[in-house]
Amino acid sequence: MAANPVVDPDLCIGCGLCAEICPDVFEMNDEGIAQVKEDADCDGAGCCQDAADSCPVDAISL
Ligand code: SF4
Repeated sequence: MAANPVVDPDLCIGCGLCAEICPDVFEMNDEGIAQVKEDADCDGAGCCQDAADSCPVDAISL
């Protein structure tokens, strides 16, 4: 399995875009910050790169 992305919680502004673009991989946690789902399959989802590219603060590292 390929490595999954990482969200930097200090950078994330909680806009929700990644979870909207790629709900199979990203979800919003109780603090309103994006996190990567435990069973996320970044390659299989096919939207990881899109989500990372769309993050306004570049909080997502692939
Ligand atoms: S797109 Fe970026 S700033 Fe927006 S919720 Fe996702 S990680 Fe946070």
